[in-house]
Amino acid sequence: MHSIDIGTVEMMLDIMKYSIGRISNTNPDMGKPTKEEDLLKLVGDTVTEEGIGGEKAFQLFRDVLSKAAVPVDHPRHLAFVPAAPTKAAILFDLVTSASSIHGAYWMTGGGGIFCENRAMEWLVSLTGLPDKSFGVFTSGGTAANLSAIVAGREYWRSLDDDNKGLKALLITSNGAHSSIKSMAKVIDADILLVDDEKNEKLTRSALETAIEKLTEFDRKRLFAVVATGGTTNAGIIDDLDGIAEVCEKENLWYHVDAAYGGGALAAPSVRHLFKGIERADSITIDPHKWMFSPYDCGAVIYKNMELAANAHSQKGAYLDIFKDEGAQGFNPADYQIQLTRRLRGLPLWFSLAMHGTNKYTEAIERGISLANFAAQQIQHNQNLELVREPGLSCVLYKRKGWEAEDYRNWTYKNHQANFALVTPTKWTQDGITETCARFCFINPDTKESDIVEILESMN
Ligand SMILES: *Cc1c(COP(=O)(O)O)cnc(C)c1O
Repeated sequence: MHSIDIGTVEMMLDIMKYSIGRISNTNPDMGKPTKEEDLLKLVGDTVTEEGIGGEKAFQLFRDVLSKAAVPVDHPRHLAFVPAAPTKAAILFDLVTSASSIHGAYWMTGGGGIFCENRAMEWLVSLTGLPDKSFGVFTSGGTAANLSAIVAGREYWRSLDDDNKGLKALLITSNGAHSSIKSMAKVIDADILLVDDEKNEKLTRSALETAIEKLTEFDRKRLFAVVATGGTTNAGIIDDLDGIAEVCEKENLWYHVDAAYGGGALAAPSVRHLFKGIERADSITIDPHKWMFSPYDCGAVIYKNMELAANAHSQKGAYLDIFKDEGAQGFNPADYQIQLTRRLRGLPLWFSLAMHGTNKYTEAIERGISLANFAAQQIQHNQNLELVREPGLSCVLYKRKGWEAEDYRNWTYKNHQANFALVTPTKWTQDGITETCARFCFINPDTKESDIVEILESMN
C-alpha cells in the first residue's frame, strides 16, 4: 500500500494532470447538489475489501463526484463568503501534504513553522497590535474564536479564585457570527446579545448601557466582549475603538472577530474603519476567506501570548520530549485548541513570498471596488434598491416587488443554469425583517460584466 508500482505512477500522473487542469481553469462548471442516493447509483460501492483501484476511484471522483460540489472559486459564486485561493497557495497545499510535517511543535515542524511565522508576522503587522503580539494558524474562524475565548476565560479565572465557580458571561452583538454563540456553548458560558439598532452595530454607548443594567452577579461573571470586524452578512464593523475603551475600563477580555473582514486590514481604502482593533486582546482572521488561501486556514492572534499558553499548553508525559531538544522554537500547539496540526499557514506563506504583499492589497481592494460598482448599478436600476451602502465587499439589495420565494426561485434558476450562485439573506430595519439579495465579493477575477448580467437576470 505504501510502495510504488507502475499503476501507482500512472495514478499519480492522472492526479497531477487533473490538479493542474483544475488549478488552471478559472471558469469551472458551477456544480450542483445531488442526492446521496443518486450519487450512490452513479458510482456504486467504492470502499470494498479488495479495493476498486486508484484509476477507477479517481475517475469516479473526477467525472461524477467533483461535479456534485460547487467550486467556491467560480467568479460568479458570490454567495455566503466565497473564496479564491491563489494558484501558488493551492500548489503549496499539495506540497504541504507531500512534505508530511507535524506542525504542533518546533522539534518536528521547525522549517515549516518558520514559514508560517513569517506569514503570521505580516498578519500581525496589519492589526497594529503592540510588539510581542503574535498568533497561530488554526483550522478556521470557529477554532480561532474558541481558542481566543478560552484564553480570555482562563485569564478571568486567574484574576480571582471566586471566578472559578462562576458560569462565565460574554457580550456580543446580534450581527456576530453564529460560531460565537456555538463556542460560548462549548465553554458553557452565557451570552448576552447587545445591539444599537439605529447604528446597525455594537457601539460604545450600547455596550456601556448594557453593562450598567447588569445585576451585580452578572457583572461579576462578565469576562469578555466579542466585537465583529466585518459582519458576515453585511460587512459591518463594530465601533472597535469605543468598545476597546469600555473593555479597558472594565477590565474585560476584548476579542475582535475579523474572520471575514480581516483581509480588508490590508486595504488602505477601508483600513480606518478598523481603528481600535490594535487595542484587542485577541483577533480572528480567516486567510481562507479574503486572503486567498485554500481551505482550511484560520488564524488567532493574541496581544499576550503567555495568557494564550496558560490556557492551551498541553502537558503529557510523552510530550515533554518535544520541548527538550534545545532548538527553543515556537510551538503552535501551545496557543490554540489543537495538538496534531497541519501546517495550515504554509500555502499562505508561499503565495505571499511569491507575489509580495502589494498584490494582496490590490486583490482585496478589487473586492471592494466590485462592491461599489454593484451598488452603483443597483442605484441606477429602477427595478432595484440598495438596502444599505456596501459594507466592505458585501452588498445587500432588493428587487422591488419580490417576496422570499421569488429570491429563492431566482437563486435556484441561476444555479441550475450553471450561470451564477447568488443567495438571498435577511435584513432587519426598524423592526421589520425582509428578504433581500446579497453579493459577497472575494474573487478578483469576477468581472463587472458578471455583475451586470446577474442584475439583468432579475428583470
Ligand atoms: C466565517 C466566519 C466565522 C467562522 O469561520 P470558519 O472558518 O467558517 O470556522 C467566524 N466569524 C466570522 C465573522 C465569519 O465570517
